[in-house]
Amino acid sequence: MTADCLFCRIVAGGVPARVVHETDTVLAFHDITPQAPTHVLVIPKAHFTAVGDMDPATAGDVLQAAHHVAKAEGIAEDGYRLVFNTGRDGGQTVFHVHCHVLGGRSLTWPPG
Ligand code: 5GP
Ligand code: ZN
Repeated sequence: MTADCLFCRIVAGGVPARVVHETDTVLAFHDITPQAPTHVLVIPKAHFTAVGDMDPATAGDVLQAAHHVAKAEGIAEDGYRLVFNTGRDGGQTVFHVHCHVLGGRSLTWPPG
């Protein structure tokens, strides 16, 4: 628990979140500003700053949970996108690693 970390506070229950999935090691909850019809964040309960800081077991737990969420939210069949924004140029704004699970509409890249 890092007291000044928003997502650590969500894990600790001090900040409310719409939780959709939880295991011993990860938590998944709806993004507060959804960018797609389905937009869920999957985080490790332990604090890691960015994707490259996670140990392989934790990274695996996050990816497994992301696919579980996609199935539970009904977007696995049509397809979905997993995004780890990393660092300043990557657009990361919360420095507790999180996997965006996005779907429910076409997400072709590049947009246009
Ligand atoms: P990043 O830009 O770091 O990749 O993504 C951070 C995400 O966290 C953003 O999509 C933002 O909408 C979401 N977010 C920021 N504050 C909160 C919050 O208090 N609760 C929830 N559920 N999501 C948040
Ligand atoms: Zn944290």
